[in-house]
Amino acid sequence: MQKDQLFTRRRMLLAGVAALGSAGTAGAVLASDGEETVRAAAAPAPAAAPGPQARPALGPSAFRLQPLTGYGPPRTPPRKLKVRDEPILRISGSGRRMVLTFDDGPHPDYTPHILDTLARHRVRAMFFVCGECVVDNRELLARMAEEGHVVGNHTWTHPLLTTLGREEIRSEMERTSDIIEDTYGDRPQWFRAPYGAWNRATFQLGAEMGMEPMAWTVDTTDWMEPGTDTIVDQVESGAAPGVVVLSHDAGGDRSQTVRAIREWLPHLLDSGYHLTVPRRRV
Ligand SMILES: [Zn+2]
Repeated sequence: MQKDQLFTRRRMLLAGVAALGSAGTAGAVLASDGEETVRAAAAPAPAAAPGPQARPALGPSAFRLQPLTGYGPPRTPPRKLKVRDEPILRISGSGRRMVLTFDDGPHPDYTPHILDTLARHRVRAMFFVCGECVVDNRELLARMAEEGHVVGNHTWTHPLLTTLGREEIRSEMERTSDIIEDTYGDRPQWFRAPYGAWNRATFQLGAEMGMEPMAWTVDTTDWMEPGTDTIVDQVESGAAPGVVVLSHDAGGDRSQTVRAIREWLPHLLDSGYHLTVPRRRV
């Protein structure tokens, strides 16, 4: 049954249906199990008939010929959200639920291994991607969609946003949402500032573009390449209900991250944790 839902979603993507920017509205973050999230994602299937919002899928070369913003076919208008003054640090909800997040990718050397491990354990995660990395790895975004992962916006070039002007921040975020929509199928509903450097403008622009700001609770410190054992320890000692775990699938040598998740993921599952993706409360 889960498989059918995934196939439905895949067909929607192949049909190039602009998805469901309007599915979520402002509100608390709700933990949900993966199946529920996939069902929510597949809900607009009846709208798959070509309509004003249906857009043809772009091939890899067509994308390069298409302006990133401004001139293309109309995109799904984002539902504006309440402007927060701090990012979300953990998920609410009952039970031993945790969220796994992977930043800075996709990367052809590391992301596929992480996806393989997640698939082996039937776990869904969030990937906060950079637009410039998506350009040459579009198939990895398609795979994330096919396997039920959630893709969030991590800007185009991973700048320190607090040093940029408002229009530069807007461009970083908007271009990234556009390429995510083109490759993943939906506009992102989540945004994460590089280096966790948030300011008023990032919260305002994110809300304007229909994205909630998502930070993290536990940093695996994998970006410091501290050794596989240290990464495993960070995750296992930080595990607790509602925790959001930060890892990286690009931005450096991530072979330690790849090895570590093969160890800590089965341990967390054996300890009774349910690894899930968040869903915005409608
Ligand atoms: Zn980052």
